[in-house]
Amino acid sequence: MKDAAPSPEPRLPVDLRSDTVTRPTPAMYERIRTAALGDDGLEGDPTVRQLEALVAQKLGKEAGLFVPTVTMANLLATFSQVQRQEQVVIESTAHMYTSERGGATLTGAFYAGIRGVDGAMEMTELEAALRPASSPLRTSLVCMETSHNNAGGAVLSLAHMAQVFAAARQADARVHLDGARLFNAAVALQVPAEAIAQYADTVSLCLCKGLSAPVGAILAGPSSTIGRARGLRKVLGGTQRQAGIVAAAGIVAIEEMCERLAEDHLRARRLSRSLIDAFPMLSTSVPRTNIVLIDLPAGANDSGDWVDALNRAGVLVRPWGPFRLRCVTHRHVDDHALEHVLAAFRTVVERLAAST
Ligand SMILES: *Cc1c(COP(=O)(O)O)cnc(C)c1O
Repeated sequence: MKDAAPSPEPRLPVDLRSDTVTRPTPAMYERIRTAALGDDGLEGDPTVRQLEALVAQKLGKEAGLFVPTVTMANLLATFSQVQRQEQVVIESTAHMYTSERGGATLTGAFYAGIRGVDGAMEMTELEAALRPASSPLRTSLVCMETSHNNAGGAVLSLAHMAQVFAAARQADARVHLDGARLFNAAVALQVPAEAIAQYADTVSLCLCKGLSAPVGAILAGPSSTIGRARGLRKVLGGTQRQAGIVAAAGIVAIEEMCERLAEDHLRARRLSRSLIDAFPMLSTSVPRTNIVLIDLPAGANDSGDWVDALNRAGVLVRPWGPFRLRCVTHRHVDDHALEHVLAAFRTVVERLAAST
């Protein structure tokens, strides 16, 4: 596939459903072709080991573990740091709470959701929920998420993260960071990823969202915890053999694809501003990163109708509630694609908003 140079005619449809749709880069295919391979269930795969060490070093952690998905990374973070009947405290719109707390059936952990603003837990509610180590239902893990998926790509402030980390330590609890889009947060804050990761014991990171690798995620943290997680990965069937084939693309993702996320953020802001300027009946989140939430006029047409109409106009988006759409910018959405998106909205607004 040809990369980079924006073509005057965008490739249709323009896919704003998620940054997971990004394809591997030519450099990734080249690295895959020449990757040193081994058996990650036996002596270890050298390319996987290289990726694990690279991410651990970037995040200021002792060790890393390559896993197929962030869902597995988050599950292993819980499994390796929480005993049965202990409590996991987490902001109540976090992905780990809304979409992954079925993990409780495996770990036996009890999840407590904390109300938040822009993905940041209310500190008083967090402090009230923390149960000390002496409690029979102690809190052993506190989780954060940045950038925050359901909060429209919001980024936690470092001050908030420091507060949460201190409160958790006070209660003898570990901290896990769901950093599926950690590098989006780092780019938005203009700090190294390590400056964010310092406020968590363990961190999960997705390689195949904006970073464009085909599959894979990393769990990073202390050697002893990652060692435990490595054993549990085998229990879950997550140990893969010549996984260096995909880890090779992950190395390129980390080495080459982090800085450019700023472009995606710029286009998300431009998309948001253009939509508000052109269509007074729409309102949008102010994107900090690459996610734009669009609030639709409540009326006869719900988000499903808008998704269908935009789809027919060559733009794929996802419903995010009855009158809300989610758009995610990524490497394949260039300026021409953005123009096409605005034209599609013009067509659809004329048809749908006029009828409400
Ligand atoms: C995408 C995402 C996940 C799940 O990632 P998978 O690799 O699809 O399992 C978890 N948490 C957050 C914050 C995400 O954005």
